[in-house]
Amino acid sequence: MTSVLDRNAPPSLASLRNIGIIAHIDAGKTTLTERILYYTSRIHRMGEVHEGAAAMDFLPEEQQRGITIASACCTCSWSGCSINIIDTPGHVDFSIEVERCLRVLDGAVGVFCAVGGVEPQSEAVWRQAEHFAVPKIAFINKMDRPGASFQRVAHEIRERLGARPVPFTLPLGEEEGFEAVLDVLSMERLDFDSAGQGRTYTRRPLNLEESALVAPWREKLLEAAADEDDILLEEYLAGSIPSPHRLKAALRRGVLGRRIVPLYAGAALRNMGVQPLLDGVADFMPSPLDAPPARVEAVPNAPLPVADALSADASAPLAALVFKVFLEGGRKLALLRLYAGSISPGMNCLNVTRGETERISRIFRLEAEAREPLDAAWAGDIVAVQGLRSAVTGDSISAPERPVLLENISSYPAVISLALEPANSPEGCKLDEALARYTLEDPTLKAELDDDTGQRLISGMGELHLEVLCDRLRREYGLNPRRGNQRVLCRESVIKSAEAEGVFERELGGVPHYGWARLRVSPRARGQGNETRVLFAGENWPAPWLDAALQGMEDGLHAGVLRGFPVQDVLVELLALQKRDGASSPAGYNMAASAALKQALESAGPLLLEPLMLLEIAVPSAFLGAALNLVQTQGGKIENMREKGERKLIQALAPLRELFGFSTRLRSATQGRAGLLMRFERFDYIQ
Ligand code: GDP
Ligand code: MG
Repeated sequence: MTSVLDRNAPPSLASLRNIGIIAHIDAGKTTLTERILYYTSRIHRMGEVHEGAAAMDFLPEEQQRGITIASACCTCSWSGCSINIIDTPGHVDFSIEVERCLRVLDGAVGVFCAVGGVEPQSEAVWRQAEHFAVPKIAFINKMDRPGASFQRVAHEIRERLGARPVPFTLPLGEEEGFEAVLDVLSMERLDFDSAGQGRTYTRRPLNLEESALVAPWREKLLEAAADEDDILLEEYLAGSIPSPHRLKAALRRGVLGRRIVPLYAGAALRNMGVQPLLDGVADFMPSPLDAPPARVEAVPNAPLPVADALSADASAPLAALVFKVFLEGGRKLALLRLYAGSISPGMNCLNVTRGETERISRIFRLEAEAREPLDAAWAGDIVAVQGLRSAVTGDSISAPERPVLLENISSYPAVISLALEPANSPEGCKLDEALARYTLEDPTLKAELDDDTGQRLISGMGELHLEVLCDRLRREYGLNPRRGNQRVLCRESVIKSAEAEGVFERELGGVPHYGWARLRVSPRARGQGNETRVLFAGENWPAPWLDAALQGMEDGLHAGVLRGFPVQDVLVELLALQKRDGASSPAGYNMAASAALKQALESAGPLLLEPLMLLEIAVPSAFLGAALNLVQTQGGKIENMREKGERKLIQALAPLRELFGFSTRLRSATQGRAGLLMRFERFDYIQ
């Protein structure tokens, strides 16, 4: 077997872990990650969060705000496993980022505060992870804090998250009395050396008192294992002790099947309980072999046939997803999750999303403090790559002979915009440089220059998205451009069919131009997109005239007649053209068709389609009325309501226009007890 530590040979996939850490803000994700990196010997000094020096939080504004916005990846080794830790953002407005992270990871560690418990936000991200069928384990952190209760958090995990929590370690003592961790699997007591920042720890068998404490939990653990393995069940009923190997295998099956959530107790800040959690990642989290095959979309006319799912086969043609792009030292680095095949420096590949051929120049493994160059990387792994010039976050990279798409990024349209006005032209240049970098890192962010006003129009996924951008401009570039109002970006469509004619008749530069067109506009079902077609014997007409008319129709759809937003979900049929000898010209037909289209749109009952957001709100029953009321006063429509443990889960559609500051209002209406997930659903109106 190949050692996982040999970085230039295919790793044994079974010993690879791609893990995300998901947590509510302040639960201790950064502190925990720092300990993990420190204990796995990849960093030499621990930075405390309050010093603003944590290795994973590399953006200055994250250190200031204390929230993790961007996702980085760090590799470490533990117990024969190579672990890629993907840092997932914890904030709602970045749910696209969270989703992309959840797609590239195979397992997740949920970090909960032993005092705060399952907070609404961690509940929201946990539910998203469930949606992507990601197996999870939970770390109950801050066991040292006043008010800490392991059992209360365990109860909340069962009730609010609908999971079956099984303690794999237990705290000995709580609050100030938290002194050690008891291992329910090995029946040992673990003491962490405070002098060495917890780097070393000792294990010893439980004494009688400790055994009595652990006994009921040991029973629960054995029951959970017995549910996964009939032979183990028989042994258990017969009163014999299962072998550790058999026990672990059964529990692993339960975790991978998402029937069990192992619980680990600790206090990252006190350096307690982290190593057993790492053992848990190695023993119970999935390898890429355990992960479901990656779903792909074939590209039309691809030379090789493609199945609709790919397993982690290193000898297959390459398929990889760019899940993050960033600049480092002026160089562009793309983080790739390889789903099939392999890469090596100098290799050509295809950026399927952009239709560009690319060359991989260098490959690195990212560590907290170093970049280790690699000679190759294989399916299942996550690495950083240099040389992909056109790559943007979300792009699919394939072998040229088998293009496949792993993600369809066009489903993330910008829904809100903000005008930025630099004070002078040097500031404008600096602003453009910064915007070019941010839009590269984050394709859901767009920036345009308005030549007339000199304003830069930025657009993105929500209020906080643009807020964070302005923060970064200030901190990273010292830029504080004047800000205009935020504007919700809409679409336009029509409610009925209408016909219209358009004529163009003018001399341009002494040359006569003529065109005449009749067309019909009709509504299509929501989400169907636009279609233009010719409904008469067009082949008898000169192709340049016909093409110019079709182009005029398509151009006309870029700006609707109500407020100039793009038109969607309409069918435009060209019914007739007329000609005038000596005057008919492509320019004439182009203008005539767009005039006819404008006229037809006016008569077809034009309507505005707003961005509608899907809200998912989880609340305790006591606050259900308050939450429903708030949704309805914001013009929202309840789509669905169901029980979820102790809580009610509301699904509603609401127009983005009404949702500015919604999470704050929801928090005050529910005394902070509601969990909110918000994501763009479609352009439409509430019926
Ligand atoms: P994140 O927002 O989830 O990344 O959380 P941080 O790692 O930034 O931690 C938030 C705060 O909780 C910081 O002030 C930490 O020092 C503190 N903290 C983290 N872990 C513990 C712990 O085990 N015990 C106590 N008492 N505080 C902790
Ligand atoms: Mg953090």
